[in-house]
Amino acid sequence: MSAARTFFVGGNYKMNGTLDSTKKLIDILKSAQLDPKAEVVVAPPALHLLLTKELLSGSKIGVSAQNAYHKASGAFTGEISVTQLKDAGIPWVILGHSERRTLFGEKDDDVAEKTKAGLEQGLSVILCVGETLAEREKNESINVVVRQLDAVAKQISDWSKIVVAYEPVWAIGTGKVATAEQAQEVHAAIRKWANDKLGSQAGEALRIIYGGSVAAKNCKELASQPDISGFLVGGASLKPEFVDIVNARL
Ligand code: PGA
Repeated sequence: MSAARTFFVGGNYKMNGTLDSTKKLIDILKSAQLDPKAEVVVAPPALHLLLTKELLSGSKIGVSAQNAYHKASGAFTGEISVTQLKDAGIPWVILGHSERRTLFGEKDDDVAEKTKAGLEQGLSVILCVGETLAEREKNESINVVVRQLDAVAKQISDWSKIVVAYEPVWAIGTGKVATAEQAQEVHAAIRKWANDKLGSQAGEALRIIYGGSVAAKNCKELASQPDISGFLVGGASLKPEFVDIVNARL
C-alpha cells in the first residue's frame, strides 16, 4: 500500500537566509538529480516566496509558505492571508508548525481554522502535529497527536490535499531524531486514526511524513518504515544534503 503514496519531502527554511542564499539553494536543487518519483516542496520565508516561485518555474519542485492567516484581508498587521497566497500562485502552506504553536500561541482550533481556510482557497496543506518531551515522558504522544488532528477533522472532511507531518517537538532542531520505531509507532497510530475517521480509502491514501532532525545519515531507515511517506526537513534543508534526503528511497 505504501508504494501507492507519492514520497513527499518538504524543506522548511524557517526564518533563515538572504535572497542570495535562497537563490543558491534553489540552484543546487534545480541542478541535482532528484528521485523522479519524489514530490519536493520548499518553504522559504515569506519575503522569498515570489523569487523562489520564479526560480522554480518550469521545474517540478513546489513552493510553500510557512504559515498564513485564515481571514482573506483586513486589519491584521504583519499577517499574510491564504487568499493572498492563492493570488500569488503559492500552492502550499505549512500550518500548525510547533514553533507557531509554542512561540506564537497558536491553538489547535486556530490551526484547524487556518487549515479550513487554506483548503477553501484550493491550497494544499502540510499540517504539523507532535508532542513535547514532557508529553512523551507521560506517554501522551498519541493522545496529543489525535487531539490535534481531531480539532482539524471537526472543521474539514476532505483530507486529500493535506499531508500530515508528525514532528515530535523534542526532535526539532535538537539533533535528537526519533528512532525509526518511535516514529513508525506514532505514524501507525495516525494511520489508524485516519482509517477510523476518514474511511479506509482516504485513510490509506493520507501521506504522513516525519520531521525532526532528519539528516542524510538517518533518512533511509526512517523512509523504509511502512507508514512514513516522506519528511519535513528544517536544518538539513539549508544544506546540499537535502538532495540525499529527497533521494532516501533510491
Ligand atoms: P529540523 O526541523 O529538521 O531542523 O529538526 C524540522 C522542522 O521544524 O520542520
